[in-house]
Amino acid sequence: MRSYKIAAIPGDGIGTEVIAAGVEALEACARRDGGFTLVFDHFDWGSARYKKTGAFMPEDGRAQIKGHDAILFGSAGVPDIADHLTLWGLRLAICQPFDQYANVRPTRILPGITSPLRNVSGPELDWVIVRENSEGEYAGVGGRVHRGLPEEVATDVSMFTRAGVTRIMRFAFELARSRPRKLLTVVTKSNAQRHGMVMWDEIAAEVAAGYPDVTWDKMLVDAMTMRMTLRPQTLDTIVATNLHADILSDLAAALAGSLGIAPTANLNPERTFPSMFEPIHGSAFDIMGKGIANPVGTFWSSVMLLEHLGEPAAAARLMRAVERVTADPALHTPDLGGKATTAEVTAAVCAALAADNR
Ligand code: ATP
Repeated sequence: MRSYKIAAIPGDGIGTEVIAAGVEALEACARRDGGFTLVFDHFDWGSARYKKTGAFMPEDGRAQIKGHDAILFGSAGVPDIADHLTLWGLRLAICQPFDQYANVRPTRILPGITSPLRNVSGPELDWVIVRENSEGEYAGVGGRVHRGLPEEVATDVSMFTRAGVTRIMRFAFELARSRPRKLLTVVTKSNAQRHGMVMWDEIAAEVAAGYPDVTWDKMLVDAMTMRMTLRPQTLDTIVATNLHADILSDLAAALAGSLGIAPTANLNPERTFPSMFEPIHGSAFDIMGKGIANPVGTFWSSVMLLEHLGEPAAAARLMRAVERVTADPALHTPDLGGKATTAEVTAAVCAALAADNR
């Protein structure tokens, strides 16, 4: 029997609610499959720990999870701690040292979900956004001097390396090649940012030479927002920088119906370190503790986790269960206009898994 060790880090806000739901669904999935087991280790890292101890995770935290097969992460952020502290203290403190440089965000309109775009249903919108996740605008290079004085200066330097751009570009071309349409759009802003972004364009062309079977094109990020909303069917796989893809994937999540549905994988493709799977959404303090958080983003992230573990049949089964549940409006949480609770949606997904006899 195959066995996998998963580190569960619920974090803050609704993170605790959706990760509990995700663990339940993954356990149901393993039971239904019968060929593998999942062993969960739970870590109470996050803002509550920071308030008590001054650190979001223990000093040897990464060593504690380095040997796990995957990480299931909830969200990080509370209203009374500055966002950049939480982000760098927990999420990026895992992503960066574990070299999870490929952030992968699939977007589809699931059955039963209505897109805010008129006349757009399932088949017209089926994308995967690949976000460079280790450098670029979020490299963390910069500083502040003369704090509080009128002459204060603050800089954030975007850092693009040939190695970093080449590896994400290869990843994106490989992913595009693996999808039926074999279509990749490379997003930059190389008209205004004439150094790093021009290098992106050049490296894209170099890497493309090795993928003659992949059709690719280039878009400026501003024009890309229009193409996503006006001609979504012309897109398939998309690759963009850390900042650009961050913004575009929130737009993508909204176009697919709700932030509560969208999943993410932070991949270390070489598998030197564990990869991390999380819903796109944040801590959603406005709905915390009400039991109405949509767990679908976490379920879909769990599908990606199973694919990464090398359990494609279980992954496909979980995705079928999720789609069966989203197809029923009576099982929609309030963010989708329904009245269902997190617990009801989770129970329905577990029941659909058990009933799936494919
Ligand atoms: P963060 O800064 O932590 O990323 P944010 O302020 O960008 O968070 P979210 O916390 O993701 O945003 O929430 C944005 C809005 O979407 C909120 O109104 C929230 O209630 C809603 N939302 C987010 N995730 C979910 C979910 N899983 N289920 C239901 N509603 C959600």
